[in-house]
Amino acid sequence: MKKAILKKFILILLIALTINSAISCILVSQLMLKNTKEDLLFSIQVLDSALDYEKDLREQIYRIQQRISNQNIRFTVITLEGEVCADTTIGDTEQMVNHKEREEFQQAIEQRIGYARRYSETLGMGMFYVAALSQNEQYFLRVSVPFSGMTDYIKMLLPMVMVSLLISVLIALFLVSEFTKTITRPLKEITREILKFNELEKDMEFQKYPYEELNQIASTAKDMEQDIKEYVNKLELEKKIRQEFFSNASHELKTPLTSIRGYTELIQNGMIQKEEMKEEFLERIHKETIHMADLIDDILMISRLETKETEVMMCEVKMDEILKEIIEILVPAAKENEIEITSECKEISYYANPQQMKELIGNLVTNAVKYNKIGGRVHISIGNVRDMFVIQVYDNGIGISQEDVGRIFERFYRAEKGRSKKISGTGLGLSIVKHIVMFYDGKIEVESKIDIGTTFTIYLPIRKTE
Ligand code: ADP
Repeated sequence: MKKAILKKFILILLIALTINSAISCILVSQLMLKNTKEDLLFSIQVLDSALDYEKDLREQIYRIQQRISNQNIRFTVITLEGEVCADTTIGDTEQMVNHKEREEFQQAIEQRIGYARRYSETLGMGMFYVAALSQNEQYFLRVSVPFSGMTDYIKMLLPMVMVSLLISVLIALFLVSEFTKTITRPLKEITREILKFNELEKDMEFQKYPYEELNQIASTAKDMEQDIKEYVNKLELEKKIRQEFFSNASHELKTPLTSIRGYTELIQNGMIQKEEMKEEFLERIHKETIHMADLIDDILMISRLETKETEVMMCEVKMDEILKEIIEILVPAAKENEIEITSECKEISYYANPQQMKELIGNLVTNAVKYNKIGGRVHISIGNVRDMFVIQVYDNGIGISQEDVGRIFERFYRAEKGRSKKISGTGLGLSIVKHIVMFYDGKIEVESKIDIGTTFTIYLPIRKTE
């Protein structure tokens, strides 16, 4: 890049300098020609005042010629008729042709002063002539110098032009290389920083550069780095969660399967003789299969919620009816432990998926009954509070310890107390609750104290029906 900029810049510079030099040469040459004209005219005026027209002109001209050092200057005195009476270069003027037809002579007749440029046959070289009428108006005085055109001046100017061209190019080269550095250096730096991207643990660091465009590249690269890092972290986290989920799910399914296998082998081997023992074992097998079916249902529910199924059927769900259904199912289990279930829910509906709402309330109320004490109490209230739809499930059961509260929403997590009491469960219920709440952009609050009870409060934003 540096080389390319340098090449282009030098080319532009050379073109500009050449044009500039050519124009200056022409202008300076014109100026010099004008000065030459003026100088020659002045020398004519000096000659005019020096000459005594009453005396021998040839003699006076001869004397002048002896005194002037520049032998290239030629003075000529011409009569009004064009005859040469005296000349510094040619002594024998008799031989010289009449000058009447000469261009400078013609011009001088008309305008008192005349100029001409031509090849002199007499001297055999290009000359510049200036002719002017003498003060007494009886002669024309003519002066001439060797001159073969503008090229004379250009030849004179050329060495100076070449030297100045060289100096300009050298200065420009230095400046351009400094200038390109101010672009290439930051670009190299930006590239080096962007390459850090391969090493995820390193962060790109950019300085403030003198060009806004470079700062924009730097900030875009930084943003991209941020986005990609976040994306990679998210993917890694999701991968980890999925792996954990698979290993936990297989483990959870393996436990009831091992039990079922054990019970069936015992029955098959004829180890169990008593009919009522057989019945009991069959009952255990039945329970384990129900547990497995529950697990699979919960796993499927979670995976459906995680993939964020696009086709979720939504409608106005009558929450009072759903709650009634759930309580009816739980009444036998509650009765077993003399648990009283009360509820407070007007005829209210919420725009949602009915299955999801059943899962949400079902899991919370089931837990409130499951993790309760004999003679305990469960209270459910559902209603609108300002712009939120609120579901609250209270129980005065076994409660959750402070360190468990933070983890109960994790998949397969079961608090120590629940596990030790051998209360059946999959450890997925609250994880499903959390996913459903997230699906509706809501939030969950838990308040719990060991042996005093637990209150789950769910806040769901009220959406507009479509
Ligand atoms: P589980 O199938 O074990 O009930 P959940 O995900 O529904 O799984 O609950 C996770 C854990 O949270 C339970 O094992 C239990 O220890 C605790 N828990 C949930 N609800 C309550 C509650 N109302 N009272 C006390 N502990 C609870």
